[in-house]
Amino acid sequence: MFDKLLGDLDAQHLTRHLTEVSTGVAPTVTIDGREILLLASNDYLGLAGHPDIVHAATEATRRYGVGSGASRLVSGTLSPHKDMERALARFKRTASALAFGSGYLANLGAIPALIGRGGLILADRLCHASLIDACRLSGADFRIYRHNDLDHLKALLSRRKAARRTMVVTDGVFSMDGDLAPLAELFGLTRQYDAELYVDDAHGTGVMGQTGRGTLEHFHLEETVPFHMGTLSKAVGCAGGYIAGTETLITFLLNTSRSFMYTTAPPPGIAAAVVAALDIMQREPERRQRLWANRERLCDGLNRLGFTIGASASPIIPIIIGRADRALTFAEQLFSKGVFAPAIRPPTVPESTSRIRVTVTSAHTAEQIDHAVTAFRLAGESIRLI
Ligand code: PMP
Repeated sequence: MFDKLLGDLDAQHLTRHLTEVSTGVAPTVTIDGREILLLASNDYLGLAGHPDIVHAATEATRRYGVGSGASRLVSGTLSPHKDMERALARFKRTASALAFGSGYLANLGAIPALIGRGGLILADRLCHASLIDACRLSGADFRIYRHNDLDHLKALLSRRKAARRTMVVTDGVFSMDGDLAPLAELFGLTRQYDAELYVDDAHGTGVMGQTGRGTLEHFHLEETVPFHMGTLSKAVGCAGGYIAGTETLITFLLNTSRSFMYTTAPPPGIAAAVVAALDIMQREPERRQRLWANRERLCDGLNRLGFTIGASASPIIPIIIGRADRALTFAEQLFSKGVFAPAIRPPTVPESTSRIRVTVTSAHTAEQIDHAVTAFRLAGESIRLI
């Protein structure tokens, strides 16, 4: 049976393979013995291999061991977990914060805790899979509005039954397009229709806003939106997810989020690493400046060559190709020219919008970016995209 199912996927050019990388996350990695420029990681600030963060993880692992031994609510809450949450709350300027094993688990735990049967969730069509799964799991009525389409959302809000508890769910930075949600307008609509706004800021944390506190900071909405969700696995360079907010919200979530309650606490070494990473992130704003300068250089190069990069306004840059097989060929061409930027295909992105998803980090050099632009030119010419 699985042969047939895999065969079907293959026929549509939708089979995935794992590419083994034998070095750590860095601007260049080794794949099959070859050094390749990596344009695909979400380690936006180049922190995953930072010696001070590795040291913090190692020291905490020596002291507390590798595993946490139990759920946080049983006996797994170790001092590094509490230190991590205090550091997160300070960073996000909220009263409190709760850490989860991953960003996926944060959404999966928080949304069903915040809204359930009888409620209504309206989510952007391009929301991340973890949000979609969380919305389905919640048992609330779940509708999709067209991507960033405020008129569509307004129509859905105005048609709902009066006094029905409603939550609008969106990414802050969309993970496959790199564009931003119009959060000010979304917040205005939720206020007008007495709904709540839940923003997944996985790709905004550490990247967006004057001081890197995220997309809510970018739009000056930190004080007004109650749920601040993000990950620790992208710009923070570690692993995990979080919700930051009021004491009451956090106490409520730790009593009701099943993906927090019924899973073993994250390794203490990771929690200590997060504390070190948040500290470096805030002390070294130049990392964010380099990230944005690199992003501008790459976008300029791609624009000059005539590539379509959509509405990207972040270090995620999609090069939309269309057919899955063409996107695969493009990725292979790039790889042959020393650049690893994989093809992203359905169901990760909608039909006919297969693409190369490029991410740039603060660790790339100007020469590496220029090399990437050359590789894109050659690959683009070879499939007659430009
Ligand atoms: N939300 C968004 C928007 C994401 O892009 C991702 C990761 N791809 C997640 C949540 C899940 O985060 P994590 O990788 O920490 O599980």
